[in-house]
Amino acid sequence: MILILHFVCTGLNTRGGIPRLLNAALEEYYTEATLWYLEVIFDFGTRCKLRHWQAEAQRLASTIGEDTFQQKIFFISIHSEVTRGDLFVGKDEGGDDVAVLPKEFMDYLFAGCLRPLVSRATLFMLSCGPVVTFPQSICSFKEVLLELRPAYTIAFGATHFIGAVIKSFIVAFGSRVVIQGHDLGEVFTDLLNVSVELPMHTDAYLFQFEEQMASDMPNPLSSAVHIKGMHYSWYHTHHRPWGCPLPMSCPKCGSIHSWSPSKQGEDSSGAPGRISTCQSPACGFQMFSYQPRSYQVIKVKVGEGMGWIKQAGI
Ligand SMILES: [Zn+2]
Ligand SMILES: [Zn+2]
Repeated sequence: MILILHFVCTGLNTRGGIPRLLNAALEEYYTEATLWYLEVIFDFGTRCKLRHWQAEAQRLASTIGEDTFQQKIFFISIHSEVTRGDLFVGKDEGGDDVAVLPKEFMDYLFAGCLRPLVSRATLFMLSCGPVVTFPQSICSFKEVLLELRPAYTIAFGATHFIGAVIKSFIVAFGSRVVIQGHDLGEVFTDLLNVSVELPMHTDAYLFQFEEQMASDMPNPLSSAVHIKGMHYSWYHTHHRPWGCPLPMSCPKCGSIHSWSPSKQGEDSSGAPGRISTCQSPACGFQMFSYQPRSYQVIKVKVGEGMGWIKQAGI
């Protein structure tokens, strides 16, 4: 049995949504009894609304019943605060948006009997990037993932994330991971490569829950668990050296698309990176893109100057 559960922050439009697309992609392989799709709107911006949500979460958990699912795929459609990376939980008494740190948010969302369901699930954060680009929110996010133990969590780094760019990604996820049973960590870059729009629009983050076997531990009673965070950014030697997009126009002369093919070089302190030079007459402005400290390059095709830069230790 497969469970798709979609949590939607109040006020968000979910028409043409990604979770429904996954459900549609899976429908012909399952029956109504073996593929469940549930969508719930949440709002816990006030104490009173939080109590309502807690009761609703309890009802939802009893509707779902016993956890005998082969795959649980959870989506959270939400906004992330652009200046901090906090997540919106709903509206307060005055109708203003309320945002809290990711850990607090997830603790509220997965209330009561919903909480144990997250264990072994695959969790998609359909949110703008700040939640995974600010150190404080990443830290809080990883802390709660360690407690909730989803097998994998996927998030996207674009400041203004557009769900439409992951359409082909999610359909490929349905066939490779859900139907064929591949491990998400092993096929992740294949899924990213299916999409034409995704690489240019957003970076991707994959968080994997890892548990060390008790027998490998010096003290068998303590089990070592941790969250392995990986960041994938698209690079192109001319347009996105080391995965960092060059500005469309030159900051000095304002020319559009004037960057030269990038060249290997060093900054004034000797740090390695790539140098792109503005080719507009008499400008010569240079942009420097730093080489990450530790990384792995995953090429799409051998000999082409593009692919993914994978950084571990997020
Ligand atoms: Zn947003
Ligand atoms: Zn210029």
